[in-house]
Amino acid sequence: MRPKRLKATEYAAPAVMGQDRRGLGVSLPKGGQWVAGGFSRRTQALQPASPEGTAERDDRPAAGHCRPSGTGPSVRRDPAAEAASNRLLSLRDSDSVLPVVGRRTEDRQDRTRRFFGGRALARIQRSRVLVVGVGAVGNEVAKNLALVGVRRLTLVDPDTVELSNLNRCIFFHEADVGRKKVHVARRALRAAAPATEVVAVPRPIQEAPEEVWDADVVALCVDDELARYYVNARLLGERRPVPVVNGAMGRTWAETTVLVPGQTACLVCLWSEEYLRGVLSEDVRRRCDAFFQAARVRFPAISVLTSLVGAVSSTEVVKLLARSPEELPPATGKRLRYDVRRHDFLVQDIVPNPQCVDAMCRKKRAASRVPRDKTEAE
Ligand SMILES: [Zn+2]
Repeated sequence: MRPKRLKATEYAAPAVMGQDRRGLGVSLPKGGQWVAGGFSRRTQALQPASPEGTAERDDRPAAGHCRPSGTGPSVRRDPAAEAASNRLLSLRDSDSVLPVVGRRTEDRQDRTRRFFGGRALARIQRSRVLVVGVGAVGNEVAKNLALVGVRRLTLVDPDTVELSNLNRCIFFHEADVGRKKVHVARRALRAAAPATEVVAVPRPIQEAPEEVWDADVVALCVDDELARYYVNARLLGERRPVPVVNGAMGRTWAETTVLVPGQTACLVCLWSEEYLRGVLSEDVRRRCDAFFQAARVRFPAISVLTSLVGAVSSTEVVKLLARSPEELPPATGKRLRYDVRRHDFLVQDIVPNPQCVDAMCRKKRAASRVPRDKTEAE
């Protein structure tokens, strides 16, 4: 249902911060009528330069309020700034349901629609995402995907909430200690995003029912290399290519890789045979001895790092679901690493390994080379 058009006097919000197609933040005053006051300091800094306007700053009301021209101190109109604003007003996403500025709406996804456009948002809403691991990163990813409008989430994790999880998990509270993480997260998601249907599977991914693989994208949020190995093998066995967004974390860095096993490098293309043997033997050791299960190494972790992994990973999931590659190209085949020590952001291509430890990856790579070699021969 389209929202009611409001009369000019009913506008309550000040000029709206918008995004032009180059990603620049720009203030969008309505034709010069509402320019008096109401701009936050940040907005003021980003809007087209208007020395006359900024001179009035001390007399302005607090940010967040505005009033029509003619009441209170006046601001001299800047024709150049107005022309720039009017140009920006005409920038509308071609498939947006609502115009970019000027209407109040009760629609929960109003701001999301303004970001992605109506059609891309509909694609996102129709999608199903499998989230493997509902620890700190999984909390963030599930929260972001539900808030952005993904309507079908499958959460898989066998673990229960522990007290030491609470320093970085938005959905877990002290009363939840001992409960299954997937159940606690599902309850929290129901409250945060009631339109999202959440399927909770309190098992290891290796033992999850077949239906969980009915997903458009897999978000991998685990600190368990065996789960990573299993998900990779499973996706390599799928006929249709399924992208996987893999989150990882080090002492001071957050990392996301975006891969389509079988098409790009796979999740284990960078593993050596020795590393794989270590992963498999560690699993055997854990299964055979409860002492080792309880003595799993607990890495240092703080919420800012897990939030960073979750933010970049969920961004990439959403980009894959939106399928707007020109405006929001997914980082497919890349590793994105952000190190908080010196704020270095590293983007690397991950080259498929012809000697990958996974035989299916080697086979698929070999198969994909045939047509190319044939073409080259012709
Ligand atoms: Zn591989």
